[in-house]
Amino acid sequence: MPLTVRAAVAHGQKRPLAVESLRLEGPLAGEVLVEIRASGLCHSDLSLFDGSRAWDDYPLVPGHEGAGVVLECGAGVTSVAPGDHVIPVAIPECGECPACRSARTNLCDDYFRPHPRRPFQLDGRGVRAFCELGTFASHIVVRESQVCRIRPDAPLDLVCCIGCAGATGVGAAVFTARVEAGTTVVVFGLGGIGTNVVEGARIAGAARIIGVDTNPAKERSARAAGVTDFVNPKAVAGDLAGHLREITGGGADYSFECVGSAELWRQAVECTRIGWGTAVMVGVPNGTDSVGFRPRSILEGRRILGSYLGNVKTRSELPQLVDWFMEGRISLDRLVSHRITLDQVNEGFELLSSGRSLRSVILF
Ligand SMILES: [Zn+2]
Ligand SMILES: [Zn+2]
Repeated sequence: MPLTVRAAVAHGQKRPLAVESLRLEGPLAGEVLVEIRASGLCHSDLSLFDGSRAWDDYPLVPGHEGAGVVLECGAGVTSVAPGDHVIPVAIPECGECPACRSARTNLCDDYFRPHPRRPFQLDGRGVRAFCELGTFASHIVVRESQVCRIRPDAPLDLVCCIGCAGATGVGAAVFTARVEAGTTVVVFGLGGIGTNVVEGARIAGAARIIGVDTNPAKERSARAAGVTDFVNPKAVAGDLAGHLREITGGGADYSFECVGSAELWRQAVECTRIGWGTAVMVGVPNGTDSVGFRPRSILEGRRILGSYLGNVKTRSELPQLVDWFMEGRISLDRLVSHRITLDQVNEGFELLSSGRSLRSVILF
């Protein structure tokens, strides 16, 4: 049975989202209908309609950081049942492809295959759902491989953020870099992602966590998350990487770029220590940008790692992060700075783009 659902819809670049009624087809075989209870606002959603990224598939329902409850399962669905609490995930975990069978990566082969199904419809036309999710809707229909079952006692208005910021940040430190106790870490960019890298580095036992951000208002929340030294690049005379090497006595053991700036990718490499410094790339520069490194900076034994959704396997490993939150090891309370209604979605994005919020969460 098709449903009528409310959703925030993007109709083009540099246009605010419109809250509208869409038709949603019921789940086909292998699909799941999820009632979304909460959804976080992420920069990746904003980049789909603020002109910063080339995107032309409209209308579009953004949203990829949600949490909700399974209402109905299509034929053949075995891993979740109606009533289960779930986090819909951007990267599928089919469990069978070479990537899913390997312990090395979370990048399921299915993520890179086109998935033409469009369960949302507007005026008889299929509507694109971002990441095949579209969590800015009261209900979504997704593949079984894109829902992660979580414990029912976890508060959905907080753990929704594990689906993107939490997995990306905590995962980059714990699963990608495997930060070791007693080490020195530099985090570039202290927004929702960077704050979660700090959380991950802290629980991994890093002795010193240096947070870098041009917005001094980020210092307080960053220190609460575990930053021991705050560096504002605007207050540094000369080369930022040189300054970071100096205050770390030769370079950081690990660095994390969480902004998506080609220049900061370079700084993230250069600020690490000769011999074993590891730079982890988390932010997403423009597809047309190119990144330059001095050949010697790599020859000198540094490593560069890419990290997509924190290298966390989205169905088998993500529940571990929910457990860490429930055990009080990682905080999401500091991250979720605003709770809003679906009708306030555009105001939520203004808070995000002006740097006044870490995360706003829509409550349905
Ligand atoms: Zn995101
Ligand atoms: Zn797979």
